[in-house]
Amino acid sequence: MSGAILSCLLAAASAAAQQGRVEELFSERASSSILLVYDGRRIEAGVERILLSALERAYADLVRDFGSGPVEKVVVVVYGERDFRAATHAPSWANGVFDGRVRVPARGITGVTPELLSVLRHEMTHSFVHFRSKGRAPTWLHEGLAQLEEGKTAAPFASALAGAYAQHGTFSLPALEGGFMGFSAPQARSGYAVSLAAAEMLRDTRGFGALAHFLDRLGEGGGVEEAMSEELRADYPRLESDLADWLKRHRR
Ligand SMILES: [Zn+2]
Repeated sequence: MSGAILSCLLAAASAAAQQGRVEELFSERASSSILLVYDGRRIEAGVERILLSALERAYADLVRDFGSGPVEKVVVVVYGERDFRAATHAPSWANGVFDGRVRVPARGITGVTPELLSVLRHEMTHSFVHFRSKGRAPTWLHEGLAQLEEGKTAAPFASALAGAYAQHGTFSLPALEGGFMGFSAPQARSGYAVSLAAAEMLRDTRGFGALAHFLDRLGEGGGVEEAMSEELRADYPRLESDLADWLKRHRR
């Protein structure tokens, strides 16, 4: 994967319960679709306006892909680095968390860098996926779509993934339905890579609209494989063999 940093994970909702004290001192700024909650001591005056408008642009891009956004405002909380670790208990490889709210660390923000923008796009995608699936989307789909919306592609590691499949005969996608939070950094890297490849293959072969319908079906309470067979013409074995074929065509 490009870069040393992995954006995010899905933390358990219980992490949210540990919030509160730190955020009492935070400032807020809202638009029609986003509530930005930030540590004013960590952000230079005026940057919160730039941040909010970057978030609005990301939100509009996501609405174009997903067809609609969450009914409630997306809450984005920006912490100082140490407060972020203390408040979320995120593993060291994660630089953002979604647990119902988007939570990102910042070491003194003086502007919106491309890296920060990718993290925000990634985390905001989680809120769209969470909303459409009513919290029932498998983690591989969450992380795959979040990376796609960052603009990433699986092409750089298609060869390595195809090789691993040839060796083991599986991508172990069903094992990536649950959270990645307990993963070591290498496990997380490989989990994110497979997730991105699966989502990219599905977008290319079934279309983003079919993925959105898949999320809706999950939100109606359908099981993952049931919804998959109805909306994506696949069960896990079929999805994995389609992925292996797709990787062969996309390695470089
Ligand atoms: Zn993520």
